Amino acid sequence: MTAQIIDGKAFAATLREKIAQHISRLKQDHGVTPGLAVVLVGEDPASQVYVRSKGKQTVEVGMNSYEHKLPADTTEAGLLALIHQLNTDPAVHGILVQLPLPAHLDEALVINAIDPTKDVDGFHISNVGLLATGQKAMVPCTPLGCLMMLREYCGSLSGLNAVVIGRSNIVGKPMAQLLLRDSCTVTVVHSRTRNLPEIVSSADIVVAAVGRPLFVPGEWIKPGATVIDVGINRIEQGDGTTRLVGDVDYDTAKEVAGAITPVPGGVGPMTIACLLANTVTACCRTHSLSEPNGLTA
Ligand code: NAD
Repeated sequence: MTAQIIDGKAFAATLREKIAQHISRLKQDHGVTPGLAVVLVGEDPASQVYVRSKGKQTVEVGMNSYEHKLPADTTEAGLLALIHQLNTDPAVHGILVQLPLPAHLDEALVINAIDPTKDVDGFHISNVGLLATGQKAMVPCTPLGCLMMLREYCGSLSGLNAVVIGRSNIVGKPMAQLLLRDSCTVTVVHSRTRNLPEIVSSADIVVAAVGRPLFVPGEWIKPGATVIDVGINRIEQGDGTTRLVGDVDYDTAKEVAGAITPVPGGVGPMTIACLLANTVTACCRTHSLSEPNGLTA
């Protein structure tokens, strides 16, 4: 068996098209333009690339983009003052503080200073609680993108065995909550789990968010399972160059799985598309306008 390849790039392009259409209706019918503010502290090269890409895609779908680049030695009080200003700015519907922050800044304190209705990353403690209790929340972008692809490729998820590898606050835990909400039987495995291969091989759905290159071999995958690979790892090749690989050994897993996301071109493109979707959702909620279908969980 060779798996169906889940094309995250194409999926994200379709989602962005839907978002752009909704934004044009928001502008035309209600005179509202969603706005996303991205805050970057310091000069981490990877973060700079992400922020540039987010800003570009925000503008491409017709939203306003506000970029705030602060020096690495910004004080906590200075950053909190900016967040307060963005919280009260009616043109800003979504606020994203690019992580990681420099070590002298308290990430939890900063994230929890964001107005939860503008917390388009879904990391504010209120949104974490709302998601865990099955209420209307802002949902973290990466797991939201994974869920959208799973719904598309599996149809109803009800009753399926889902195994999430990794228990981070940004991927593993919210992913597990979303799968539970869709009535999967969910197991979360992590670095201390015993019999990990055995548990993974019982899964109809595997979501790998480990951060270890090629961690999951094809032999762990149940034939026909749907495999979502969140991992992004850069590995050295023999010739001195590097390449990106996921947490799943794609070459062996695709021979067993029913459907699988590649790396790159799987979950990655969906993450930014879901950030745009969350900003539209936040804008609609702020203005008490109906939310478009298919943009949130
Ligand atoms: P993290 O380091 O915060 O968490 C990793 C998790 O994996 C931990 O819960 C840990 O218990 C588990 N783990 C580590 N070693 C293990 C082992 N040997 N066996 C079982 N479990 C083990 O990472 P994260 O932030 O959740 O990210 C995971 C991966 O996803 C990384 O490669 C990251 O770059 C990638 N990522 C991709 C996107 C995207 O948009 N595609 C977004 C976020 C994260």
